[in-house]
Amino acid sequence: MRVPIESRVLLAVASALVPRDERADWRREWDAEIWWWLGSHTGERLRLAVHCAGALKDAAYLRANHGDAIATLRRAAGSPGACLAGLALLLAAVVAASGLTETRRVLRGDPFAGAHLAVLSQTLPFMGAHLGVPPAKVADWDLRAQSLEGAATYSRTRRSGVAQASPKFFTLLGTHAAIGTLSVSDMPAAVLSYECWQRKFHADPAVVGRTVDSAPVIGVLPRDFWFLDLRPEVWILGPPASDAPSPALARLKPGVKPADAQTELRVLAAQVKPVSRGSAVVVEPVERLSARPLSALGLPWLVLVCCATAAAVVRFRRAPGFAVFLAAKVVLSLTLVLLATVEFGSSWMTINSGETNLAAGVVSLWLFLAGPGAALYWCWRDQRRRCRTCLHRLEMPVYFGEGARMLLEHAGTELVCPQGHGSLFTADGADPATQWYPLFAGK
Ligand SMILES: [Zn+2]
Repeated sequence: MRVPIESRVLLAVASALVPRDERADWRREWDAEIWWWLGSHTGERLRLAVHCAGALKDAAYLRANHGDAIATLRRAAGSPGACLAGLALLLAAVVAASGLTETRRVLRGDPFAGAHLAVLSQTLPFMGAHLGVPPAKVADWDLRAQSLEGAATYSRTRRSGVAQASPKFFTLLGTHAAIGTLSVSDMPAAVLSYECWQRKFHADPAVVGRTVDSAPVIGVLPRDFWFLDLRPEVWILGPPASDAPSPALARLKPGVKPADAQTELRVLAAQVKPVSRGSAVVVEPVERLSARPLSALGLPWLVLVCCATAAAVVRFRRAPGFAVFLAAKVVLSLTLVLLATVEFGSSWMTINSGETNLAAGVVSLWLFLAGPGAALYWCWRDQRRRCRTCLHRLEMPVYFGEGARMLLEHAGTELVCPQGHGSLFTADGADPATQWYPLFAGK
């Protein structure tokens, strides 16, 4: 009688899972089982395969209850290599999930360098947070401001993937269309992002003239176009939908400094309603905004890494291996926090492009402060519980003493190295202290 191929594969996989010393007996038992099955059933290949899948469960159970395997696994998890590999794996996951889009963008350089572009916003008297500007003022600056070549509003809309901008927006940026045109003759008009054109319209050149979001498509943006943290699929060009404050883009005339433009715009803003007391117009060059958040977080990251590494080397100068391991953990975990904040913390930049979400800036700032703090705390806590010789995590905690009698007696925890290099005593209470006792019985 022949055993079907799928059942044979299942049995082979299952027997590989069984601990080696039990494998031959296990296989004999299952071969007998299959022989009995084939003798008593005919033409039920699928049911036999389901039956053989039970062998997998059986093998997994044997493997899990094998004392040596669990001990080996636990020992491997506590090794210094497993700790560094775990951190490297997390780092790889962040890189894979984000594709390092933000970091690569900043490193590639600013597409608007030397274009004299600036974002206009208003400062709130409370905490100096930035808000948008009333569209009426932007229209007035566009007409009258001597320091500007032009000004245009832009904003997100309630629909995800759709942004709204004044007809002049792309002209001010100096962007050229990949297909069609970006200069508006009839309003409203729709402009597609390159990715949207590729994905939703299969790069069809006949997309110009079709209707998207109840506006005719006039063009497609170039592949490498980006503007701060705004990445909509569709830009609708036309007048602003409401009088709500919206961020604005301006092109300064050659030779005009942002500070001079700011002075002029503040004077003009006071002449157009609504005039809000205590708030002032701010002109921020786009080049500076587009390098964030990497430029804002890169230096603190470098300072933290240098300080923590130097502290590790000085503190453990008698045990170079111990210091190097701590430094490696610090570098890996801080880099993980930096990349995660830069790649996923786009709300850090949200305020820079004028979005009126005050909480986003506060929350991302808090995350940026708390993230490195938590990473350093974890590094230090993990380090304290490691063997000073082999860097393995200490095991078998023994608690002794009583908290209530700490004045007269000792109370604390003792941990030992699984390879017998020494033990660590941690005293609790009014005078907490940690003492490492090397043992000479170790290998
Ligand atoms: Zn050890």
